[in-house]
Amino acid sequence: CVENSSKLNGNHVATQQVADQHDTKETFIEDLRETRKLLPVYAVRNRLLEEIKKNNTMILIGETGSGKTTQVPQLIHEQRLEGSASIAVTQPRRVAAITLAMRVAAEMNTEIGSVVGYCVRFEDATSVRTKVKYLTDGMMLREAVADPLLKRYSFIILDEAHERTVNTDVLFGIVKLAQKERNEKKLLPLKVIIMSATMDVDSFKKYYDECPVIYLEGRAHPVTIYHTKMKHEDYQYAALCTIFQLHATSPANHDFLVFLTGQEEIETVMSNIKQIAKESPGPLIRVCPLYAGLPAAKQLQVWKKTPPGMRKIVLATNIAEASVTIPQIKCVIDTGFVKERTWCTSTGAERLRVGPCSQAAAWQRAGRAGRTARGAAYRLYTEMDFGARKPHNTPEIVRCPLASTILLLIASGFDPLTFPLIDPPPEESVKASLLLLKELGAIDNETNPKLTVLGKKMTAFPIDPKYSKILLSAPEYDCLDEALSLVAVLSSENVFHMPIHKREEALKVKQKFVSTLGDHITLLNVFKAFCKAPLKKQWCKENYLNHKNLIYAYDVRQQLLAICQRLNMTVTSCGMALDQLLKCLLSGLFTNCAWLRSGVGVGGAKYATGSGAAAGLHPAGVLHTVRPAPPALLYTELLHTRRAYLVTVSVIQPQWLHQVAPDYARRCRASRTCPTDG
Ligand code: ADP
Ligand code: MG
Repeated sequence: CVENSSKLNGNHVATQQVADQHDTKETFIEDLRETRKLLPVYAVRNRLLEEIKKNNTMILIGETGSGKTTQVPQLIHEQRLEGSASIAVTQPRRVAAITLAMRVAAEMNTEIGSVVGYCVRFEDATSVRTKVKYLTDGMMLREAVADPLLKRYSFIILDEAHERTVNTDVLFGIVKLAQKERNEKKLLPLKVIIMSATMDVDSFKKYYDECPVIYLEGRAHPVTIYHTKMKHEDYQYAALCTIFQLHATSPANHDFLVFLTGQEEIETVMSNIKQIAKESPGPLIRVCPLYAGLPAAKQLQVWKKTPPGMRKIVLATNIAEASVTIPQIKCVIDTGFVKERTWCTSTGAERLRVGPCSQAAAWQRAGRAGRTARGAAYRLYTEMDFGARKPHNTPEIVRCPLASTILLLIASGFDPLTFPLIDPPPEESVKASLLLLKELGAIDNETNPKLTVLGKKMTAFPIDPKYSKILLSAPEYDCLDEALSLVAVLSSENVFHMPIHKREEALKVKQKFVSTLGDHITLLNVFKAFCKAPLKKQWCKENYLNHKNLIYAYDVRQQLLAICQRLNMTVTSCGMALDQLLKCLLSGLFTNCAWLRSGVGVGGAKYATGSGAAAGLHPAGVLHTVRPAPPALLYTELLHTRRAYLVTVSVIQPQWLHQVAPDYARRCRASRTCPTDG
C-alpha cells in the first residue's frame, strides 16, 4: 500500500470514546454528556434551533461524525418543539436505526421503547410515550400507507439522503405532499429536515422550493487513505493479506472493519481468518460478521467491547457504510466492491450484481475509521481505479424493481405515473412494474390503477408483492403451512453452513434434506426438521446449518402467520403433494422461470430465463449435478458475479406456467422467450 495525500481530515474535534471506559452508570452518563458537548452540532445548537423554528423545510449538511443523527432530534426534543406529536428519524438500514436509538437512549438516560424507540421490519420497540423514533425508511413508508398525512409526527427527519434508496426517494415526495395538505387543511404544520454528509444539494433545494441549506462546520477525525500500487485479481485474498499485515503491526486495541459484498463471502473470509490466526503473530482475534440478514441481536455483537489485549475484526457488507459508529475501529479495509440489486427495465429481469462501489461510498467507508479517533483506510484498489469510478451512487429508484413501492403508492392514494420524485424512474420501468402488479392480480388495470381485493391484502405483508402473492394464493393450493415456512426461509440468509475445511462432510450431511424437486423443498425439509429438533443449537451444529438464520426465519414465520390469521386465512398443509406447493410458488414467482437451452457442457447446463437472459445453475444448489438437466425451472434469484447463476431453483412442469399465470405465459410466448408447447 502507498500513502495517498488525500485525507478525510479538517478541524480535529477532540471527542473521546467513552462508552466502555466508565466505572459506574453515573460517570458513564456524565461522560456521555461531556462528549456530546464536543460535537460540532453542539457548538451551533442555538443557531440551528433558530433555523429549525423559522423554516418548515431545511437541508442540513455536515461531515460524518458531526452529530447530526444523534443530536438534532435530541435538541428538538429538549426544547419540546415537537409538542404533543413526535419526531421521526428515518434510516435506510435497520442496524443503523437500532444502534442509533440505543445510543440516543443512553445519552438521554432512558430505556429503549420509552421516550426513545425504534421501529424496523419485524420489530417495533416503541410505545405511546415515544417521542423520538428511529425507523427504517421502509417502515415510514408503510406508516404513510395508513396515514398519508403522517399526523402522528410534527418533525420528520429524512437522514442519509445521499444514499438515495427508493424508499427515501419516495418519502421525499410523501412528506412534501403531506406538508402541503396539512397546511391547506390548517392542521399542525409538518417540519421536515433532510440530512446528509454529502449530496447533490442543488437538485434537493430546487425540489423543496429553494428551502434553506445549513452547513455544519467541523469534521470527524482525520483518516489517512492508502491505495494499492497494483491491481488485485482476487480481492478476498488481498483482504486477507492486508488484514494479517496490519494485524502483525497494529496495537491490540485497534479494531479493523473490512468491507465485503455478502454473507457467503463474509463467512468464507471469517473461516480463513480463524485458520490463519492460529499461526500468526499478534493479539488474539475476535471476528464479527455484519450483514443485513443477520438477526439484530447478532448484529449488535459488533458493538460489544473487545477485551483488553484482543483485536476485533468486523467483516461487513455496505450496511456498515453509513450512519453507524463502531467505536475502536482504527483501520478500514475496503475491497471496493458491493453487491447491488439491479433490474433490466425492458425485460423486468431482476438480478444481483457484484461490482465496484462509487467514490462517495468509498469515502463513507473510509469515514468509519475516524468516528471516535484518527484512523486509516486501506483501499484494495489503485488510485487510478478510484478515479475512474462513478462519483455518486445511482439512485436506487432508477435501477431497482419498483413493484413494491408502486403498490404502496397506489394503496396510499397516489398516482404512480405523476407522483413527484426528484429523479423520476424511466417510464418503462414504472410501466413494467404496473404490468407485473396487474399480472400478480394486485391492481385492476395499468393506466388508472386501483387496488384489487387481493392487492389490498398484499399491502398487509411487509414483503415483496411476489411473496405476498404466494402466501395469499396458498389456501387455493392447500399449502399455507408450507408456504409460510418457505417464504420465511427465503426472507432469511443462507441456512447452510459450509466451512471450507469441512466442506465434504457438510455436503454429506446436507444429503439427508435434499429433495430431487430442488432447493425450495430441500429448504422446507431443513426448516421442518429444525422446528422439530429439541436442542436447536446443537442440532444445527451437527447438521452444518446456520442456527441464527433459522431462528430468524422462525420469527419471520410467526409474524407472517399472525398477518394471515388477521386476514382469516386457513392454514392447511399439502402433505406429500409438493407439486401443489411448487405451483403456489409459481403463482408469485412466474417471472422467474428458466428453460433448458443446452444440456451438459463446460460449466454445466445452460438455461434461458423468461426475460431472455442466459444463466447456469449455481454450484451450491441441489440440482447442479442432476442429469439429465430438468427442462424447466423456477428460480428465486439471478446472481451475476463472474458468470450468471440461477440461485435457489426447483423443477417445474412447463405447462404449469400456463395454468398458474396465463397472462404472463401469453406475453412470454408472444415474445418467444418461453417454449410454445410449454
Ligand atoms: P453524524 O450523523 O453527523 O454522522 P452521529 O450523530 O451519528 O453523527 O454521531 C456523532 C458522534 O457520536 C460520533 O462521531 C461518535 O463519536 C458518537 N457516537 C454515535 N453513536 C455512537 C455509538 N453507538 N457508540 C459510540 N459513540 C457513538
Ligand atoms: Mg448520521
